[in-house]
Amino acid sequence: MNPIFADLPTTVFEVMSRLARETGAVNLGQGFPDDPGPQDVREKAAEAVISGWNQYPPMMGTPELRQAVATHYARHQGLTIDPDQEVMVTSGATEALAGALFSLIEPGDEVVLFQPMYDAYLPLVLRAGGVPRFVTLKPPHWRFTEEDLAAAFSPRTRVVLFNNPLNPAGTIFPREDLELIGRYCERFGATVISDEVWEHVVFDGATHLSVLAIDSLRERSVKIGSAGKIFSLTGWKVGLVVAAPAIMKVLAKAHQFLTFTTPPNLQTAVAYGLAKELGYFQGMRADLQRSRDLFHKGLVSAGFEVLPSAATYFINVDLASAGITDDVAFCRTLVTDHGVAAIPVSAFYAVTPVTSVVRFCFAKKDATLNSALDRLAKVF
Ligand code: PMP
Ligand code: GLN
Repeated sequence: MNPIFADLPTTVFEVMSRLARETGAVNLGQGFPDDPGPQDVREKAAEAVISGWNQYPPMMGTPELRQAVATHYARHQGLTIDPDQEVMVTSGATEALAGALFSLIEPGDEVVLFQPMYDAYLPLVLRAGGVPRFVTLKPPHWRFTEEDLAAAFSPRTRVVLFNNPLNPAGTIFPREDLELIGRYCERFGATVISDEVWEHVVFDGATHLSVLAIDSLRERSVKIGSAGKIFSLTGWKVGLVVAAPAIMKVLAKAHQFLTFTTPPNLQTAVAYGLAKELGYFQGMRADLQRSRDLFHKGLVSAGFEVLPSAATYFINVDLASAGITDDVAFCRTLVTDHGVAAIPVSAFYAVTPVTSVVRFCFAKKDATLNSALDRLAKVF
């Protein structure tokens, strides 16, 4: 057995969701909405299951979805993408991350990671034989400096694994940060794997900036999106990968032996959804922003120190000012004594974690949020 996986604890999302089910707590831990998602997109998938093609689709994704991805990113992010050579569909962003790491890293290569990081990253980097070099981000701004990059990069750096907008912080890195990463990647010959699954979930009028829009990164990056996040259908594991042809050729080799293809009917529905009018995406953001504001206000009234959430389904509270510095113990008490499940942000760190921050998912119906807020009002 390989100890990298055998010795791993079960993911915090699964643990918290199970605890929430067992205790009947309101589950604001794992990030998923509690409404059924866009009906027309789901109907498209159902139609495609009944009357469409249910055998293996092309390995790189259906031509219609690859074209829809290129058109969608041109429209929303100003990118010019060749659907035939630069787009691949995977079974979730998670497969894309695994495939990119397995195909771009040789044992001993260094990988720059920004922590807090999504919990799948480190085990996949280690299993690929990568040597992690961490840049540590802290509340309230969760930003890095040039000195941080200078300390993390070396001549052995092959890959930078970057997540923007950042889960769990709920922050958006500005253009200057992406350009700084671009300068370091050019200097050291590194490739960026850019996890942009939260690209559509940005608030207060923000627009998403992809690494592919940065000149120095266009030819040296892998952009990863997730239809599960774009349409708030998180169980739909449809990943959208874009990279320059030379990189894509290698990614395709990993994909062919990881999952090979992704359910064709979901691809049909995602292609349909990506072509929806701009108003759909604006409406989705406005709904989530309203939920964020409702929950933010409630947390403040309940006496929590709330960190800003500019993106993602998540908002964080910093408990340090309340004298609480064990987020794991706090989350355990929160679920058992108060009936609310949340995620301790220390779970997103590998070394020297921040231990006073707790993440809540606000992508929920008002009734769910209000029920959680009633309970949270009794914590302090
Ligand atoms: N990366 C990040 C940052 C995520 O938050 C998630 C899921 N929440 C994923 C990757 C996984 O995406 P998928 O479900 O498409 O595999
Ligand atoms: N990405 C989701 C989150 O951050 C959960 C995904 C999972 O359960 N692995 O909550």
